[in-house]
Amino acid sequence: MEYKRRVSRQIHVGDVPIGGGAPVCVQSMTNTDTRDWRSTVEQIKRVEEAGCEIIRVAVLDEQAAEAFAMIKKSIRIPLIADIHFDYRLAIRAMLSGADAIRINPGNIGGPEKVKKVIDLAKERKIPVRIGVNSGSVEKDLLAKYGHPTPEAMVESALRHIRFFEDNDFGLIKISLKSSDVITTIQSYRLLATKTDYPFHLGVTEAGTVVSGAIKSALGVGFLLLEGIGDTLRVSLTAAPEEEMFVAWSILRALKLRQRGVELVSCPTCGRTEIDLIPIVEKAEALLKHVKTPLKVAIMGCVVNGPGEAREADVGIAGGRESGILFKKGKRVARVPEKELLDRLISEIEQMTGEKIR
Ligand code: SF4
Repeated sequence: MEYKRRVSRQIHVGDVPIGGGAPVCVQSMTNTDTRDWRSTVEQIKRVEEAGCEIIRVAVLDEQAAEAFAMIKKSIRIPLIADIHFDYRLAIRAMLSGADAIRINPGNIGGPEKVKKVIDLAKERKIPVRIGVNSGSVEKDLLAKYGHPTPEAMVESALRHIRFFEDNDFGLIKISLKSSDVITTIQSYRLLATKTDYPFHLGVTEAGTVVSGAIKSALGVGFLLLEGIGDTLRVSLTAAPEEEMFVAWSILRALKLRQRGVELVSCPTCGRTEIDLIPIVEKAEALLKHVKTPLKVAIMGCVVNGPGEAREADVGIAGGRESGILFKKGKRVARVPEKELLDRLISEIEQMTGEKIR
């Protein structure tokens, strides 16, 4: 399926292009104390390994701004400084090598302070994300619309965009985040009719792994299907590595990007002749770390099993206390049930050249 993507301008965060037809890239944010730069760097390396292409850290005070410079020197992927309330921290972060900054211009201390941030960003060609959040829409817009409605969020964003443009600065991307899926979708849709700046997608405060994955898949997924969105962050109350698993699953399901294993498994039923659920759970935990794009099927019986297993790069169709192993559409072997997982993982290690265990 070909997506007609919204035509957006392109910016670069470090060496990663965003918008203008570039692949939708995956971001995350650290949850370590930024002031502890060593732990933050370790976490960034783990998240990068899990598929993160751009990382953001909170710069909440002077000490964090100092640590930011150390973090920047110690990592490979582009680094974004997330700033609230104090424009001086944005300045510090840019002087410390930030590849981009994220601010909510509404809470940074007034137009003169925003202008100071813009002046340095312009001088250093550092992109800025204007992050409008439903929780921090300006008071006059809340009075006008009653709630942080899509219209209120879009008006807030347009107000900030205008201010940046009046100051002759266009290296911006926009996010309009709400914890409500429908508001998120409607806000981005509405803004897409009014501007061509690239969009950073996300459903904010989406919740724990399962509920957050569902909300993100719906909110981000609908927009991506409509061609809207240039970069995304899945926000979960979990380790950032978990966000990568969900983000890449969304992109893979929409056939926008390929990375890692697409695991096809059946729900099991009265025909299942092997103890499938623990096999699939163990397989998923192991295969999460594979980077090579691969379709793996683990099916319970011969009704749909051989068909799915044949369509996959490698697959198993369960039989009586055993399973048939398929590779690239061909039946390779019948394997006893207790050896199935091991055999499957060995085949995948061989096919990808990646060490899984
Ligand atoms: Fe049931 Fe077989 Fe379908 Fe699995 S593949 S749900 S075991 S019919």
